[in-house]
Order: sequence, then C-alpha cells, then structure tokens
Amino acid sequence: MIGYRISLAQLENLIDAEVAGWRTRADERTKKFKIAGKYDEASTIWSEIKVVYMRLQGEAKCVYCERKLEGEERGKAEHDVEHFRPKSSVRPWKISAALSKQGVFLTQPGKPAPGYHLLPYHLFNYSAACKPCNSAIKSDCFPVAGAYQFTGDDPVTLLGEQPLLIYPIGDFDHDPEELIGFHGISPQAIPQQGYKRHKALTTIAFFELDDAIGRKNLVRGRAHVITTLYPQLLTLAGNEPANKKAIAKMLIDGFTSPKSEHTNCARSFRTLFNTDPDEAERIFEAAARFIDSSS
Ligand SMILES: [Zn+2]
Repeated sequence: MIGYRISLAQLENLIDAEVAGWRTRADERTKKFKIAGKYDEASTIWSEIKVVYMRLQGEAKCVYCERKLEGEERGKAEHDVEHFRPKSSVRPWKISAALSKQGVFLTQPGKPAPGYHLLPYHLFNYSAACKPCNSAIKSDCFPVAGAYQFTGDDPVTLLGEQPLLIYPIGDFDHDPEELIGFHGISPQAIPQQGYKRHKALTTIAFFELDDAIGRKNLVRGRAHVITTLYPQLLTLAGNEPANKKAIAKMLIDGFTSPKSEHTNCARSFRTLFNTDPDEAERIFEAAARFIDSSS
C-alpha cells in the first residue's frame, strides 16, 4: 500500500474536469440523506467519477493490495468504487487471536449499526479497489479503536474515531509507507507501539495482505517483483558497462514508481539492498523459491 497525496481542492478540480456538475448533484443527494437521517436512494452516481480514482491510483492499481488492474479503457468493470466508511450499515469484523495478542482492541459497532449516511458522496470517502479487497473482504466492515461517530460528515475530523484501516488518498491520514513496509514479500508494521502499530497490523490482517494461501497470486506478484528487481540492483551497483547500468536504472525507477504494482514492496527491497545486501540476496532466493513452490 502506498499513499496518493492530494488536497480536497485538487481532487474537486479533477472531478469537475471529468463530470461537470457532478458535485452539485452529489451535494443535493447528501442534503436529502441528512433530512431523512439515513442513506436511501434508488440509483447512484459515483461510478461516473470512478476513472478519476483509477488514474490517481497509479493508473489503475487497487488502492489496498497494489495489484495492477486493467486501465480505464477496458478495466472499469474490474474496479469497484469503494466507500471507506460504509454508507448504510457497519457490521462487526472478527478480530483474530493473533491480532488481539498484539494488543489491538476493536470497538463494537453495535447491533444494528447504522452506516455513515452523510459520506456516500464525500470525495475523501472513495477509492478504486479490486473486487477481492472490496467485495470479498471489506464489505461493510470498518474497525475502529475509538468511539464510532456515524453522523460525522468530515473524514478529517472523523480521524477521532481512530480508524484501524489506512485511507491512502488525500492529505490527512497517515502515509501508508510510514506505517507499513515489506521484508521481502511479507508486509510488516513499522511503528513499534501504540495506535499507529495497531492500525498497520489491522490493515495487514484485515486485507489479508500477508496470506500466502488465500491471496497466493497477490503474494506471488510481489515475489516476481523482487526476483526481477534484484539482478537490476546488482547491475547498477556493480562494474557493468554504462549502457547496462542505464537500462538497470530505468527498470529500477519503473518498479519503484507509484504506477507500478507492489511499489511499497519494491521500494522496501531497494532499501534493504542498499543497507543489507546479504539479507537482500537471501530474500531474493526466498522469493524465487516461493514462486517455484506456488506454481
Ligand atoms: Zn486489492
């Protein structure tokens, strides 16, 4: 997971340029939800602006797992418009014993728990996500460590709920790369204690980002990045001719750019190579063995 830094004003400009008048129609709908005290509508209009998020997120990457999906010409059906805070109901997420053991505590949303009826059309409540992350995994869950504020209308002030998932878009939540890094193919919480560590651990567990069985192809994708990147890092660091180094640098820059899949993994591996080359070699070999064993 990486962040896509953008201010609300910049995002509004992108939306206006894509669909003129969309924000006015969205505001009218939100006013109706406010009067009704709940989310209720016969049809929705957020798919009209899905491509803005697809472009923003490294040209069609899932915001959570960093898998690259097909682009906007042919790939819209592969992407869901994901509501970070669920719009009509929040259901409990079952925390694992391993996560509880790490000290993570979840607030129970209550039964029945309403959704965030003032946020279905908030630009900082959207992202584009793959169907495994959005439909199969996240669904209507939204774990927090503080008190739920279902009537909130501003994602910035709603940070007071202490959400346990990272919202990668915007300029107000934690930068995902400050909270989650990778050791080889495995995501790791970077902070050593407190809310930030719990948020990182929960995000990894919630989206099953370290599940080499349930999300085998996701993890394999990271292994492919590492096995391709490692020879290029060796070339750039060695005594190769300038033309070979230039190609290696081009590939390394590509793999670590926000537009590539598994950017956080690639950047973490590049850092490891530069600080502990022996461990990087071991990780490269482990990634190669993982590809072989999962084929
Ligand atoms: Zn995903």
